[in-house]
Amino acid sequence: MNDYPRFDLPISPPTRVTGWAGNSATLGAGLELPVFYPATGEQISVLAEDDAASVDQAVKAARHAFDKGPWPGLPTADRIAVLERCGQIIRENADELARLECVATGLLLRELRERHMARAAYNFRFFADFISQRAGERYDQTPGYLTTVAREPVGVAALIAPWNAPVALATMKISAALAFGNTCVLKPSEQTPLALARLVALLQEVLPEGVLNLVNGRGPVTGAALVAHPDVDLISFTGGTETGRSIMSAAGQRLVPCTMELGGKSANIIFASADYERALDGALLGIFSNNGQQCLAGSRILVERPIFDDFVGRFIERAQRIRVGDPTLSETELGPLASHSHMMRVLNFVETARADGGSLLTGGARRDDLGEGYFVTPTAVSVPSNTARTAQDEIFGPFATFLPFDTTDEAAAIANDTQFGLVSYVWSDHLPTVMTMTEQLRSGIVWVNTPMMRELRAPFGGYKNSGVGREGGAACEAFYTEEKTVTLPKTPPPLRRLGETGG
Ligand code: NDP
Repeated sequence: MNDYPRFDLPISPPTRVTGWAGNSATLGAGLELPVFYPATGEQISVLAEDDAASVDQAVKAARHAFDKGPWPGLPTADRIAVLERCGQIIRENADELARLECVATGLLLRELRERHMARAAYNFRFFADFISQRAGERYDQTPGYLTTVAREPVGVAALIAPWNAPVALATMKISAALAFGNTCVLKPSEQTPLALARLVALLQEVLPEGVLNLVNGRGPVTGAALVAHPDVDLISFTGGTETGRSIMSAAGQRLVPCTMELGGKSANIIFASADYERALDGALLGIFSNNGQQCLAGSRILVERPIFDDFVGRFIERAQRIRVGDPTLSETELGPLASHSHMMRVLNFVETARADGGSLLTGGARRDDLGEGYFVTPTAVSVPSNTARTAQDEIFGPFATFLPFDTTDEAAAIANDTQFGLVSYVWSDHLPTVMTMTEQLRSGIVWVNTPMMRELRAPFGGYKNSGVGREGGAACEAFYTEEKTVTLPKTPPPLRRLGETGG
């Protein structure tokens, strides 16, 4: 017997989870995939994989609902009412959904309840509000003619979500696709299907048949079949850059529009002119929240040289006091990583940092005292230059890389010297420094003196390999609708009589 602490499951998860295959006795006889509780490493459920035949049926259901069903043509007021009901369902079931999300992802239960589920509900509320305010366009510049521009739903949307914040990220896609009248097929990550499977079942109760469909399984099997399906009209993807590349290539063959929310290696730039305590808080939150697994993590911490040693020292002191452990306890600050293989990948970056001339500042080890869970100590390294692999590769864990800088130009140059361009964080109370940095930084988002503050009306997405397209109010409207221009004469125009007098 060992004396590891016990991390009990906060909910009894279903023993078997199905996507579309659950709708038919003849489907879903394919592979069954294990689902693990990251806090203990124990298998808690199995997932029935949807193969190509099953994906075909799910897409056909969405196609039929789009071509023949009421959803695309529903009056806006009725669609708003359904979206609001969806948000309400999430609020009513937030506790159960948070618990299911917790046991598949290892994310902190408190955060899931207070932030992720609240955001998920708000996503529906936001798009309900958004469509209530939209107007069409009308032009009459050409004398005698009237031109109108209408926005119409595109069709069947394939929505592919990652494992690091499944419900919060997938609901942004579902709510936007539905708000603009599309029908959907959602594919969650096969590692973290539990809360989304439950959520889809709940939402299906208030949506017309076929409007929202779920397929489960591995990316290269279920995901690839979905992306290649000829009845899919648009694809919204959040995940890794390499996967995004392969999906966009497949979509390119059929000229299907895509949005790609991809990886990041965001710089958290701390000037000596910053409010020191807030910057320190922001640096810690930027890399250790969401168990370190977030695309927008401030994973490269650039500190102005005069305060570098002191700042790193204070960061290490705080990082070593972060409470790692049971994700269901309200006092826990860092839970387990999402999978065993991901934990090993994160830990291997310690050796990578050393091989590139860097040194380990703190952490860098598995928390063996916590049993078989995928717990990693909050980790930080310093590296000799921005070319080190830990300064370039997305690690996607509680792993910070420190670098000093001397001037504003140098800070911007280091921040921009990466294949990514999702977020940049700037900490300074000196306005000219802030203005110079916001102009020079090559990223889709710049957060000044604040960690992670997402405004849903504003576009969210990245430059360079961090993505293609944006999510957010108007950005989603542009993606999830086709524009139709209609021109008509106000009175019958004169005849042009082509061919009337010819031989
Ligand atoms: P992956 O790219 O591995 O997977 C994302 C999703 O795509 C999963 O559902 C996966 O399925 C699926 N998938 C994998 N291969 C294919 C394929 N060939 N065809 C269709 N679907 C496929 O990313 P992760 O799940 O590992 O998520 C982490 C990544 O997501 C990080 O790089 C992170 O930066 C990025 N991310 C970006 C965000 C942004 O907004 N920019 C937000 C959050 C995360 P399965 O897992 O079942 O194999």
